[in-house]
Amino acid sequence: MEGGSGAVVTSDPRSPEGKEARLSSLPDLSERQQLQLDTFRDALFEHNKTTNLTAIRDLDGIERRLIRESVRLVRPLESVLPPEMGRRPRVLDIGTGGGLPGLVLAIALPDIDFTLLDATGKKIAFVQRVIDQIGLTNARTIHDRAEAIARDPALREAFDIAVARAVTSLPALIELGLPLVRLGGHLLLPKGTAIDDELREGKIAAATVGGRILHAAKLPEAGSGIATRLVMVKKTAPTSETYPRRAGLPSRSPLGRDSGKGHTGLP
Ligand code: SAH
Repeated sequence: MEGGSGAVVTSDPRSPEGKEARLSSLPDLSERQQLQLDTFRDALFEHNKTTNLTAIRDLDGIERRLIRESVRLVRPLESVLPPEMGRRPRVLDIGTGGGLPGLVLAIALPDIDFTLLDATGKKIAFVQRVIDQIGLTNARTIHDRAEAIARDPALREAFDIAVARAVTSLPALIELGLPLVRLGGHLLLPKGTAIDDELREGKIAAATVGGRILHAAKLPEAGSGIATRLVMVKKTAPTSETYPRRAGLPSRSPLGRDSGKGHTGLP
């Protein structure tokens, strides 16, 4: 498989399994970045009391299951970027919600430009406020649907990588994400472990919209207690203008589902 699982599976020296881990012990982050992450975590915790930003409501859960899980994507993300691009890489977070994983990645990777997209106004307003508060200059927000921005010539095929966490099924994410990444670009999609059906549909979806699933490597436990897999998809051919289909259809009727009410994979 391309990329090799060695490049993808990150070991995590920060957190012996099950042990309490503080963000302040993360390596490779400056004091400023650590402070930015702490400010984000605290803001998410506070605003989640009044606005529904994430189902994880306790501070420890936010830190372990959201922020640390997002940090684990740093190395896989770097592994699919060519060493010399001649410009700043561009990454899109589809359905960033309260800023996951995109805001964490933007803090950890200041040399990459991040676009954080969400269809829910109050969530994207929160993310923009945090960006302003911590002075991030490499992240911007867009309040829209992926289906809509994929029709914008300035944004279609504009990204090197798209990520998405806890948004929709694998085939739907492939249909939403691949039109937005350039030829040779990638989707990085963290998922749970029970994804055999999604993987089967995802393969068909990828072939339909111009891509290939490279692998779905298991990520080592990072102290969150939750096993995850990272599905990596590469764009290997241009995407037909047919995709993504109109708003809502990619999730409601995923490509590759052959259950009668699903889509056959044909436009
Ligand atoms: N990634 C975040 C949020 C998950 S909730 C996290 O891990 O916590 C899913 C989010 O995806 C919601 O905020 C919803 O508004 C957004 N979303 C769902 N479908 C979308 C689409 N087609 N385009 C843009 N955002 C979408």
